[in-house]
Amino acid sequence: MLDTFLRGAPRGRELHCRGWEQEGALRCLLNNLDPDVAEDARSLVVYGGRGRAARSAEALVEIAGALERLGPDETLVVQSGKAVAVLPTHPDAPRVLISTAMVVPAWSDEDSFRRLEDTGLTMYGQMTAAGWFYIGTQGILGFTYETFRAVADSHFDGTLVGRRVLTAGLGGMGAAQGFAVTQNGGRVLVVEVDPSRAERRLRDGWVDLVAGYDEALAAHLDPSGPGTIALIGNAADIVPRLLGEGVRFDVVTDQTAAHDPLRGYVPRGFTAAEAAAAEADDPGFRAAVFDSLADHVRGLLGYGEQGAIVFEYGNGIRAQAATHGVGGAFEIPGFVSAYVRPIFARGVGPFRWICLSGDPADLRRSEDVVMEVVGTDSLRAWIDLARERVPLQGLPARICWLGLGQRDRVALALNDLVRSGACGPLALGRDHMDPASVASPTRETEGMRDGSDAIADWPVLSALLNAAQGASWVAIGSGGGVGVGRSIHSGMVVVADGSELAERKLRRVFWTDPALGVARYADAGYPEALAEAARHELDIPP
Ligand code: NAD
Repeated sequence: MLDTFLRGAPRGRELHCRGWEQEGALRCLLNNLDPDVAEDARSLVVYGGRGRAARSAEALVEIAGALERLGPDETLVVQSGKAVAVLPTHPDAPRVLISTAMVVPAWSDEDSFRRLEDTGLTMYGQMTAAGWFYIGTQGILGFTYETFRAVADSHFDGTLVGRRVLTAGLGGMGAAQGFAVTQNGGRVLVVEVDPSRAERRLRDGWVDLVAGYDEALAAHLDPSGPGTIALIGNAADIVPRLLGEGVRFDVVTDQTAAHDPLRGYVPRGFTAAEAAAAEADDPGFRAAVFDSLADHVRGLLGYGEQGAIVFEYGNGIRAQAATHGVGGAFEIPGFVSAYVRPIFARGVGPFRWICLSGDPADLRRSEDVVMEVVGTDSLRAWIDLARERVPLQGLPARICWLGLGQRDRVALALNDLVRSGACGPLALGRDHMDPASVASPTRETEGMRDGSDAIADWPVLSALLNAAQGASWVAIGSGGGVGVGRSIHSGMVVVADGSELAERKLRRVFWTDPALGVARYADAGYPEALAEAARHELDIPP
């Protein structure tokens, strides 16, 4: 039975459900589990260590069945990857409400969570894995590209030409690093412990060469060598070794899945398969993981002392190392506080859409509309680059960075496009990583101006607001990006099927969702947000 769900989403304009909102939810769920999209579809793992789309194969079948029979005036309630109720609501309500990995805070530590997970009561859902809106590596491409552009602007006169970057991890998100660095002019060496992951990235065009230590390093140090090289090895061995051998880098970071250390970080001496098979409670395995993590972070700190630009790329590795003996781990800055904050402070974040028909022509037509509506050079440059370089994974999708006053106009124009018949239905939404929708004190909200890093009312309010405005589905979760208990985040999607109902929902959601982002940053005292609030005449009490 599972196999029928692992063939990707249905394509075309024919409905399998009782309306396009339900169909959109079903297609996006199955798209998350398309073997071309998911990191390990058979285990229902979409990305980010063990971020799942459904709790079990049986739960997936139940959810799909519930979506197929769901009426236009009903709402499916999903508790940590399992359908728990279909309740009567009304057409303007969300069709699906999802809450994932939410545990009472004092029980929200990794061990307690894993025990609950082992008894089948919950699951870890990363962000858009459980929120059914993952779009493969591209989702993070724009983000990673913007981050390395900000690194170039902040430290290297706006370009990474002639600069060398060391990092690790070629997973669902990590694979974007090569593209982001090379498109900014630099060259990158990526340490990856799992040869099959590296080979997959080579096949998909995200890396240019996969090799062992000597060959990879020689090719990387050759200025005419390939731009993105995967070095097969363990970062806990390789980073200290490169440092010890005096190999210098301009920028050093990491994207192993260290936010989930016992499942996402392979310790020294283990293959990826051995680590996956190890018992998380085994004291020897735990010691190996945390010793390796600590040495890896000591290596990063060593590079910082040498003058390299070192930052944590949102995987929680500093927090893990700090609790396992590396007192100085937080001397390394987080990438959001160092580079992304000024973008968030304007209420701008990663908007994305998925073409539910599966037709690549729908993507081109919808991109044209977005470029027409927004019309900035940077957006055109990004879409041109993405068209040329980003391979499609699963249903055609695009991401771009938009803020208040842009998202609602784009959403309505796309609904008009669908209404005209020139394009099939679209699912419009965003990442959970947006100005108001996440509280993550070591990542998105690290170092907030007013100290509100751990205040999690904002993502809860964001979810409530999007439900009130009738988004097609709304998801809230714990732990995305940094591990359970370390973040709370929410996401939403609205299906644009060209109908009047869709127009109402899009108009409401894509105005108030980014407006709350501006309000969150205005409340924290960011001048950029206060200016945006004034420009849009938002009613924000002082
Ligand atoms: P993933 O699980 O898909 O991939 C992780 C990769 O790291 C795998 O290929 C794995 O084999 C490799 N790996 C694990 N341990 C290793 C080791 N010791 N040495 C070398 N390689 C090792 O995860 P992902 O989706 O790519 O995400 C990676 C991490 O980066 C996550 O923690 C994620 O939250 C974080 N991240 C955050 C942001 C952000 O914007 N905040 C962006 C990208 C990634």
